[in-house]
This record gives sequence, structure tokens and C-alpha cells, in this order.
Amino acid sequence: MRGLMQDVPLTIDTIFRHAEQHHGDVAIVTDGPAGRTRSTYAEWAQRTRRLGGVFDTLGISADGRIGTFGWNSQRHLELYFAGPCSGRVVHTLNIRLFPEQLTYIANHAEDEVVFVDRTVLPLLWPLIDTMTTIRHVVVMDDGGDNEVPDDPRVLDYETLLADAAPVDFHVTDEGSAAYMCYTSGTTGNPKGVVYSHRSTYLHTMGVISPNAFGLGVRDAAMPVVPMFHANAWGIAHAGPAAGAAMVMPGSMMQPKALADLIVEEGVTFTAGVPTIWQGVLPHLAGRPHKLREIGCGGSAVPKALSEAYREQVGLPILQAWGMTETHPVASSGVLSRAFDDADDATKAAQRARAGIPFLGVEARIVDADTLEEQPWDDKATGELQVRGPWCAAAYYNPDAGVELLTSDGWMKTGDVAAMAPDGNIRIADRTKDLIKSGGEWISSVDLENAIMSHPAVKEAAVVGIPHPKWDERPLACVVLKPGETATEQDILDHLAPLVAKWWMPDAVEFIDEVPKTSVGKFSKKDLRTRFAEYSRD
Ligand code: ADP
Repeated sequence: MRGLMQDVPLTIDTIFRHAEQHHGDVAIVTDGPAGRTRSTYAEWAQRTRRLGGVFDTLGISADGRIGTFGWNSQRHLELYFAGPCSGRVVHTLNIRLFPEQLTYIANHAEDEVVFVDRTVLPLLWPLIDTMTTIRHVVVMDDGGDNEVPDDPRVLDYETLLADAAPVDFHVTDEGSAAYMCYTSGTTGNPKGVVYSHRSTYLHTMGVISPNAFGLGVRDAAMPVVPMFHANAWGIAHAGPAAGAAMVMPGSMMQPKALADLIVEEGVTFTAGVPTIWQGVLPHLAGRPHKLREIGCGGSAVPKALSEAYREQVGLPILQAWGMTETHPVASSGVLSRAFDDADDATKAAQRARAGIPFLGVEARIVDADTLEEQPWDDKATGELQVRGPWCAAAYYNPDAGVELLTSDGWMKTGDVAAMAPDGNIRIADRTKDLIKSGGEWISSVDLENAIMSHPAVKEAAVVGIPHPKWDERPLACVVLKPGETATEQDILDHLAPLVAKWWMPDAVEFIDEVPKTSVGKFSKKDLRTRFAEYSRD
């Protein structure tokens, strides 16, 4: 027997029309060097329809790739919807990638046009002749004063929009491609992940649910996570879908500017990587705000950071886990009622976990070689593997040289985790960051968490350095808070009661800054290279 319900495709134009029809008055604010611009979903929808007309005028193919190279802004949100809703595929280029990687992904995706913010034009323009499929460069004037090249390929966004006719959006195939995101990739070429209309729709439903970010009409959402980093973790879709106001930082990503936006625009929900919140904390502490949730992920969220927010800003950080290949949000750590009466330390420990998989995502931990499932006893660790309608089935580069799925169809994450009996995930490490000492594994994440609970420590990253007897031993790279002092012995004394003896770092190096990746995570690769020949003087 078959169900007798309507078979309506799950497509992004449905989200677009919902925002247009029901949330027209809701605000979109974009910050920039020339000040904040204010608009509404009604205006955005009208402009987005005209942008669809621009793609036709420019002769973009029916499923042509549209590159974007810009900050989080209303215009970027117009591209996010005009692209897929007119059948095209939006390819977000990470403005901080190395030039060779940018050239590789623009050519590999076969971008036909690129939309670029004027403030970052100098990063892109020198590469344009290496990007062989790009025919047009559309400049979005976001208040920067960079010179715009006099070149027939260069066009102005607002001029094109003013001349264009609005189009109707009607996508019928929910399985068709909507977005391409290339993961930054620590080795080899970036790998292309292709989101469909259906996966985007379902991920959006997941993200707005109360066990995740819980967005609704009472919210003002500010994605600090860039729209070029795994589609801003779904927030750029969740806002219009939920009727939440959007607050876009544009190029104003300095910690003080972000704190000002939160306070002055009444932001209730925001999200970004831990290093962002580390920087924002002193600018937000003690100020009045309307925040109800600060989402954070992309790398382990230090317990000390979450607790500092609870104490100084009035709310702890909500941890989520995911990866570009999982759209990216797959689990989050909203505390259940079972913790209502728990003490602060218990709650903080629970918040340091990656949380429970969303409805729609299944997770398991296995021995990576034998695929034998490991028990959910919070002790056994194994490779975290997931499956679900918003997990990738394959990369766009057949030559990526990476086997994404196991023989039984689960997606490998490259993360090592333990799971509590209720399936709550505790990420121990990335496989490549684990430290192998005397045949046993040491979790760099656990060590970093313990070191960062020292009051003088701002950031800590632990990497394995070669050791003749033990294979590898942990080296702690520590950044102190401005004006604070601590010695190696102070750090080790602090650690001694917190970790097993054989986990104790062999040495503590004080550094000025932890190197960061293109999306603001700790770059352990750079630290390993820097300390590859480490020896004590
Ligand atoms: P990249 O490999 O460029 O960093 P992603 O942004 O897709 O690309 O990163 C995904 C990875 O980030 C995950 O596999 C995991 O290692 C890490 N990660 C994400 N969220 C968390 C979290 N809450 N705790 C620990 N690690 C996390």
C-alpha cells in the first residue's frame, strides 16, 4: 500500500517563496566599511528574482557554476538563492585559500562567472587569467575603495541588477545540484562536495529545529562563520526559512565590530569557530545583549572558553559537530532536562562534547580497518562514521584519491570519537592529529582542553613530535593572555592532576600565536612543520 500524500519536491525555491510571502518585513542588515545597510526579505526577494534575470543576460548555462568570492552580505544571500532557484549551481570560493588552490577549484568546478566583493577584489583579480572558464567578473561594491580594473570582463552588480527583468523560480528536480563547496584539504587538492536541493532543504529543517540552533521569527541571526565555509553552517538558509532577521558582518570581522553588531542589532543567535569567540569575548563581556545561543564548532570548543562566556557574557557556548561533507552540521549539544539540576562542572563537561546526531543523521564508531563496531560506553574509541540524507555520497573529483564511503555505505569522517550510551559524541581527535606514543594514542583535544583551563593561557595546541623511543611525544604550544605570565613548570603542574602521567607533554613552547587555517582553525600541520626538528636547547 502506498501513502496518499503529495509528492512535492524539496527544493530551495520553496524556502525562497516562504521568506518572500510570509516574512517580507523582516530585516536584513549588512555591515561594511561605509556603514550598515538595511533592507528586508521583500526587497531581497525582488532583487534575487532580478539576479536570476542577470544570469540569463550573461548567458550562464542552464546548470552553470556561479562562483562567489565575498563576505557574508545581503548580496551574497541574493546569490545563494538566485543561483539554485534558477537551476544554476553556486560555488563559494574561500577568499583565504592559496592562489593555486583557488585556480584549481575555479577551473575544476568550471565556474562561468564570479561575483566578487570590491574589498577582496585584489585577492582575486591577479588570478583571473588562470581561471580559464570564467567569462565575467561581477564586482559588488561593498564600500571598499580598491580600484576596479578597466576590462571588458568586469561588470558592476548594481548596474546589472537595475537593467534586469525579474524571473520566476520553479525547480522540479530535488536531486539536482545547488551548491559546491571544496574542503580546504590539508594534503592534495581540495575535494569538491556537491549539495543538492533536497539535502539543503533537509539540512535547513534540521538546523532550525530546537535540538540544533532552534531558529524562529523571534530571532536575529548573525552568521560569523563565512558563507564560503560550508555554506555558513546552514544559517543563510535557516534565517529565511525560519523568518529570522539576518545580521551580516560583511568585511567587518574584527572582534570589536562583531561585538558591536551583536549588541546594537539585537542579535539572538550567532555562530563561528572557537578562535572568533576567543577574540570577541573581551569586547562583549559585561555589555547588554539579547543573545540566547552562540553556536560553535569546526574544531573542539574549549571548555574554558564556554565557561568564560557563561561567566562574563551570561550564556555558555553551544557546541556542534560536522564537516563540509555533512552539509556541515550533523550533531549538537543542547543539554537535555536530565541536566537541569546538575552542577556547573557537570554541565560544562557535557557541553565540551559534540552532542547527539540530529534526526536524519546516524552515527557509529568503528575500528577503521575491520569496521567492527565499538561499544557506546564513552571509553572505547573508533573512527566516527555517519550516514543520512545530508551526508556526501561521493566527491566531485573522481581523482580525489580518497575513499569516502566504507564497503557498507557509511561515510568516513577521519575523526576519532567515543560515544556515551545515548550516542552523545565525544571527539577525541582527528585521526591525523592523534599522537601515537609507545603504541597508545594520546588525544590532543583533551590535552588542549586541560591546558586552556589554566587562567593565564589564551590558546593551546598540542602536536606530536618525533621521538626515538616512543614514536611520538606531545609538544604543547601555548599562547599566554596579554599581560599574563606562566612558566613551563606552571603549565605542567596545572596539568598533572588532570591527565594521565604518560600523556604529560614532553615540553611546553610559548609562542606568539597559533597559526590558523583559511577558515580560522588551529593549523596543526603548520605547527608540526615548524617543530619537526624539535629539540630542547
Ligand atoms: P577542514 O578539513 O577544512 O577543516 P571542515 O570545515 O569540513 O574542513 O572540517 C571538518 C572537521 O572539523 C571535522 O572532521 C572535525 O575534525 C572538525 N570539527 C568540527 N566540529 C568539531 C567539534 N565540535 N569538535 C571537534 N572537532 C570538530
